Amino acid sequence: MKKVPFITKEQAEEIAKKYPTPFHIYDEKGIRENARRLYDAFSWNKGFKEFFAVKATPNPTILKILKEEGCGTDCSSYTELLMSKRCGFDGSNIMFSSNDTPTSEFRYANEIGATINLDDITHIDFVKQACGKIPERISCRYNPGGKFSIANTIMDNPGDAKYGLTRPQMTEAFKTLKELGAKEFGIHAFLASNTVTNEYYPMLAKILFTTAVELAKETGVHIGFINLSGGVGIPYTPDKEPNDIYAIGEGVRKAYEEVLVPAGMGDVAIYTELGRFMLAPYGHLVTRAIHEKHTHKEYIGVDACAVNLMRPAMYGAYHHITVLGKENEPCDHIYDITGSLCENNDKFAIDRALPKIDMGDLLVIHDTGAHGFAMGYNYNGKLKSAELLLREDGSVLQIRRAETPDDYFATLEGFWDKI
Ligand SMILES: *Cc1c(COP(=O)(O)O)cnc(C)c1O
Repeated sequence: MKKVPFITKEQAEEIAKKYPTPFHIYDEKGIRENARRLYDAFSWNKGFKEFFAVKATPNPTILKILKEEGCGTDCSSYTELLMSKRCGFDGSNIMFSSNDTPTSEFRYANEIGATINLDDITHIDFVKQACGKIPERISCRYNPGGKFSIANTIMDNPGDAKYGLTRPQMTEAFKTLKELGAKEFGIHAFLASNTVTNEYYPMLAKILFTTAVELAKETGVHIGFINLSGGVGIPYTPDKEPNDIYAIGEGVRKAYEEVLVPAGMGDVAIYTELGRFMLAPYGHLVTRAIHEKHTHKEYIGVDACAVNLMRPAMYGAYHHITVLGKENEPCDHIYDITGSLCENNDKFAIDRALPKIDMGDLLVIHDTGAHGFAMGYNYNGKLKSAELLLREDGSVLQIRRAETPDDYFATLEGFWDKI
């Protein structure tokens, strides 16, 4: 699908007068409309809830927008729990799907009433020790192992993933948890990442629903919810078509009618923990071309670098680029688009066909709304950018200021003073 930025060159130039490049900007309208489509697609399930994966875009303003659309949060750490709590999410709207979790984090999650999603069978004892008891509502993360395929295509490799309990461990865990006083059980699994197919959730649902029926029979527990987790992807490249969330919701409904309803489990709530699908397309990284270099290749240096968006450097991820104001010009130049890190993998694009870029041009790097700013770091003494929100009325709100050198030096208290 053709990639069209949600801001124009004129808008971006106007914004850049107040908030210098590089910056991340999010599209409130796009975020809200997408969240509404998700809820609509799953409206057949009475208990449906999306627990937004905070790690994708950990910004309170974004969390509050999603809260208004009916979402909860899915947290992976203490600070994400703190942020959720501060944003007004109560425990019943917080999922804690962590792994390799410290005692203090389980304790805090339990204290605020978040639903703990156990990543291992040994965590039963660990949580009991940490919290003094097992919470009444508890979830376990399932990992069936092997490879996860759709129509002979390997989507991912759960057998190699560090997460979750094996199938026999699921039975044992549910029995033990029941003896320890748990009353409401959930099952969770995350078997493939960034799937651009409408088949993933329905296939996963079928596996989890079948497992839920078996577990209920084997252990006699009450299964209250099934968490399909994240993994519904987005088309980063223009040659792909986006997922149809209505087809996905319908596919899950069919599996539900086929497996859960006949087993007398038609009251199970469906949960999701989407991150990328909720936010990625609704974020741009906006950056300016500041250097051109003609050596063994043609380079354009921009004022953003991998600390603003790590995915290309980290796993060669493709992010589409639009040169603002040149949307309709022919892509007759081949460039590497580089950042300034002293790392040769600091390239937003390699051998990319783009219109001729002139110094001062603004570039939109697409699909940076999830796992974009969030993965930022401070290598090379680089500072994190601002995050902005394009509101529905067209105004722009700064929802996180850019870091300053003082922020960078703040953790050196005691040492810095003496220099
Ligand atoms: C990262 C993560 C998600 C969100 O994944 P997306 O691919 O962004 O949808 C959901 N649940 C858990 C446990 C995760 O670690």
